[in-house]
Amino acid sequence: MLTIGYAAQTPKSPLAPWTFNRRELRPNDVAMDVLYCGVCHSDLHTARSDWGWAVHPVLPGHEIVGRVSAVGSAVSRYKIGDAVAVGCLVDACLSCDQCRKGEEQFCREGATETYNSKDRITGEMTYGGYSKHLVVREEFVLRVPDNLDLSRVAPLLCAGITTYSPLHTWNVVPGSRVGVIGLGGLGHMAVKLAVGLGAEVSVISRNRDKQADALALGAKRLLSSSDAQEMATAASSFDLIIDTVPVKHPLDPYLPLLDVDATLVLVGQLGPMDEQNTVPLIRGRRRVAGSPIGGIRETQQLLDLCAEKNILPECEMIRMDQINEAFERMERADVRYRFVIDMSTLQAPQGR
Ligand code: NAP
Ligand code: ZN
Repeated sequence: MLTIGYAAQTPKSPLAPWTFNRRELRPNDVAMDVLYCGVCHSDLHTARSDWGWAVHPVLPGHEIVGRVSAVGSAVSRYKIGDAVAVGCLVDACLSCDQCRKGEEQFCREGATETYNSKDRITGEMTYGGYSKHLVVREEFVLRVPDNLDLSRVAPLLCAGITTYSPLHTWNVVPGSRVGVIGLGGLGHMAVKLAVGLGAEVSVISRNRDKQADALALGAKRLLSSSDAQEMATAASSFDLIIDTVPVKHPLDPYLPLLDVDATLVLVGQLGPMDEQNTVPLIRGRRRVAGSPIGGIRETQQLLDLCAEKNILPECEMIRMDQINEAFERMERADVRYRFVIDMSTLQAPQGR
């Protein structure tokens, strides 16, 4: 099917309208009209090939909410009209140990990502949610609970699950002391979700003028990372820190904030780090870990939890043609706290 989206044709070109083909439905496929798509910093990194491995054209978008428009002959879980969502994964082998555990993000054969990844059957590149229509294997489609506002669900599909998964993995419970470095798309979800789980949350930001927002999101305080004295007063006071900073940065200012045996989880920057002093790690038996998104089962759990506790992202709705400006603003950390594209602002190609 011919459809339209916004793609970057080279790492240096802005996103622009692009007409391309979505595959015809396989028996286990669900087709959807995309209603909303969140704008993740990874979209920007990939469009510009910041990590060095992007294959252009890149059509980003992995925080996708839509309505089912057609189903393949073998689809049993969804019907036309259902409100559905798609996150960062669209396929995996589903038979290895990790897939069987519901952790398709660690598929031994390599999971297929929603964009800039190779389709397992044809080897063609996948294209994401900055588009009118999407076709995804049934097992990778999520159900949006009825009471969630569709216009605010999209960021849960990446920013939400990427921060929920470590909260879950590191057993955050009522009273856990959680720090969140960087109050952006991922960071603000980390705050809301950790607060929802009953944790005592602190934001660690370069930006003291985000303090009122941090408190409004449920955090107890904001620590200014540029204020060495304030950082020193918070030494050894966290059980878990989630680091969402998108670029190379030193960990030295943050590690002393961890209590004995506590963990700093990197979810933001991908790539080499600065030289690391091991003293705070060894002396405090502290750990540094990493965590990617989450599996499909965990993502559905997150959507259900958000419906139950009424947790939704703070969104700024944009038109599709504002995407390049949105990328620039995201780079300047000028977004409170997630851009979401209203896909009705993108016109379908003539003749459909
Ligand atoms: P974002 O909305 O741009 O937020 C990042 C925040 O980090 C900013 O708001 C800012 O917060 C802080 N920051 C930005 N530049 C910084 C710098 N130079 N030094 C220190 N802090 C800085 O980005 P996002 O969408 O949340 O994504 C964050 C990162 O996570 C990106 O690298 C993205 O690719 C990655 N990511 C990873 C996964 C995964 O699977 N692990 C999934 C999604 C995204 P303050 O103003 O408060 O300091
Ligand atoms: Zn993302």
